[in-house]
Amino acid sequence: MNPKWNGQFSCFDLIARTGGETGDRNRTVVKVRNIEIGGSEFVVMAGPCAVESEIQLLQTAEAVAEAGARILRGGAYKPRSSPYAFQGLGVNGLKILRKAREETGLAIVTEVMSEDDVELIAEYADIMQVGTRSMENYALLEALGECGRPVLLKRGMTATLEELLRSAQIVATAGNSQIILCERGIRTFETATRNTLDIAAVPVLKAVSHLPVIVDPSHAAGVRSLVSPLSRAAVVVGADGLIVEVHPVPEQALSDGNQSLDFGEFRTMMDDLQPYLDLQRASRQLRPQLLASGGAD
Ligand code: PEP
Ligand code: MN
Repeated sequence: MNPKWNGQFSCFDLIARTGGETGDRNRTVVKVRNIEIGGSEFVVMAGPCAVESEIQLLQTAEAVAEAGARILRGGAYKPRSSPYAFQGLGVNGLKILRKAREETGLAIVTEVMSEDDVELIAEYADIMQVGTRSMENYALLEALGECGRPVLLKRGMTATLEELLRSAQIVATAGNSQIILCERGIRTFETATRNTLDIAAVPVLKAVSHLPVIVDPSHAAGVRSLVSPLSRAAVVVGADGLIVEVHPVPEQALSDGNQSLDFGEFRTMMDDLQPYLDLQRASRQLRPQLLASGGAD
């Protein structure tokens, strides 16, 4: 980590990590229904890029729940780069999300793009997602301070980590410290992937902040074949969870089909993560024993 960063974030007093080596005891754990993000669990959020229909969402919700996801994602309000692209189902999408929660018990994360929609979306969502294009929408960030729901704050695609932390501090200063940071890839000169996953962002953010950090391998990769390996990388660097796009028939998705997994691919991804999660758990338990036996020699 850049040595200039030492102590630099003490001005972000509400989100900066304090306590040096013991800082882990003071980490923020975001509680959503019966789920804890940033605690001992690795939490997977999964679902379609956009809510397209009731059947599409309910089928996806059942499939991802069965594979071990705890939170259902799905955009009802979509930020699109073309005015002619599918813009989302709006409030009807929110109603479908609510129905999926009732049927599966999954918590709901969905995007909010405008401060005008915060109150409405907070009635339906368990977590309010701020997309990459909105990370610097200060009116929105401030409105989220009073929404009474945790915030999933995605890194702007051209934002530095300092700028991401500044946005988190704005939400916290406005009254809401239940914030999850999300690395979703940034723009670089590389064109082989849609964005470049800045995997180092995870340990850096966890070193300087006490907030949970998750990874979005789907928007980073832009292609489904890379979603599983990037997810494993996220576990290895200590992420607290993932947000992954899954669709019943990715080829027919109204948005982000190229990077969406079908149900079988998502199940395989979850299975392939397991040994890495086991290793992480075992290494945490092993550490005190190793230290103890080291002392005895
Ligand atoms: C999304 O999650 O579908 C999305 C639009 O993500 P991002 O804001 O990271 O592009
Ligand atoms: Mn998407």
